[in-house]
Amino acid sequence: MKKKITIVGAGISGLYLAYLLEEKFDVTILEARDRVGGRIYSIDGHDMGPSWIWSHHKEMLQLIQTLGLEIFSQYTQGYALYDTKDKVEHFMPQSSMPSRRVNGSLGSLIDILKKSLKQTNIFLSQVVQSIHHETDKVVVKTQTQSYESDFSIVTLPPRLALNLDLYPKLPEALHVKMANTATWMGHSAKCVIEFKSSFWREQGLSGFAFSHNGPLVEIHDASTATKAALFGFVSSNANMQNFKQSITEQLVRIFKIDPTQILSIHLVDWRDEQYTASFEDRRPLSTHLEYGINTNSYSDKILFSATEFSFKEGGYLEGAILRAQEIAHF
Ligand SMILES: Cc1cc2nc3c(=O)[nH]c(=O)nc-3n(C[C@H](O)[C@H](O)[C@H](O)COP(=O)(O)OP(=O)(O)OC[C@H]3O[C@@H](n4cnc5c(N)ncnc54)[C@H](O)[C@@H]3O)c2cc1C
Repeated sequence: MKKKITIVGAGISGLYLAYLLEEKFDVTILEARDRVGGRIYSIDGHDMGPSWIWSHHKEMLQLIQTLGLEIFSQYTQGYALYDTKDKVEHFMPQSSMPSRRVNGSLGSLIDILKKSLKQTNIFLSQVVQSIHHETDKVVVKTQTQSYESDFSIVTLPPRLALNLDLYPKLPEALHVKMANTATWMGHSAKCVIEFKSSFWREQGLSGFAFSHNGPLVEIHDASTATKAALFGFVSSNANMQNFKQSITEQLVRIFKIDPTQILSIHLVDWRDEQYTASFEDRRPLSTHLEYGINTNSYSDKILFSATEFSFKEGGYLEGAILRAQEIAHF
């Protein structure tokens, strides 16, 4: 009989772990939300969480190819805009590491990954509260159910994992390290604006803009094969009331467009997502952190596998894949 594994969380870490393990183990995934994907989330084919994969993210690129998806390059041709206090300037950015996107959005990768899991049980709306290693089994409890298995793999960002009632208790040093490890992009709010046409391309602009005035501080092209779109990160100081109106005013001012060009505005404020970010994650991060958490001092029956635990490319999708591979070979 196959040994049992309970995976907590159905983000890319949880789903990919199931993909690697379901052949050899009897796998169950418990997910708090009523959807899978975690930080990967698409609305109307637009990526509201991650969208970019870089060329050195080899494992992620391999997974995309294996699942039969195609990639394309981020649109960067033309001038960028710099929205200063009193004027909007054009500039030609220095070339940066080229990023790629998945045709059909990363949400479609999650759909295909989930469909490929033929033997895994996935239970949604199951908020895990405790994980106890008892003599010969691990007991995982949600609000209503109890699940017994041989191992459990927790794929929650480290700060959220600390909300779980764990037995045995985490060693003090590990607890402190996890408490100090921010959820990557848990401080962000991402907005996607759909337009009638990609007017910026026609004007020789890449769609890339920096703004000192906000509410969007950094804007990029987010067009898909069928839709013209820009995405922007929202300033941490932005007033979220009348948000759509402020965004419209900013875009009209920067790009000098007629507001009727705008078809729709989508927003996901990740700071308010209780299954992604903790209160401490609201503090903005100015750079990508040095990620990686060594959990060897803890149990060999309760393992941790979110992207923030990876020493390589931690925080990114690639980090999630690398950590899952490491845990699956454990
Ligand atoms: C706006 C934004 C932009 C980003 N851009 C990029 C990018 O361009 N490129 C890149 O490589 N990365 C990017 N990232 C980071 C990327 O999204 C993450 O690296 C990746 O999605 C992490 O996956 P994960 O499975 O490790 O964690 P998560 O996706 O956070 O998965 C954790 C899962 O656990 C669930 N959960 C939480 N608590 C419980 C509980 N108590 N019980 C049960 N389930 C629970 C959650 O609902 C979630 O499904 C971005 C992230 C955001 C938010």
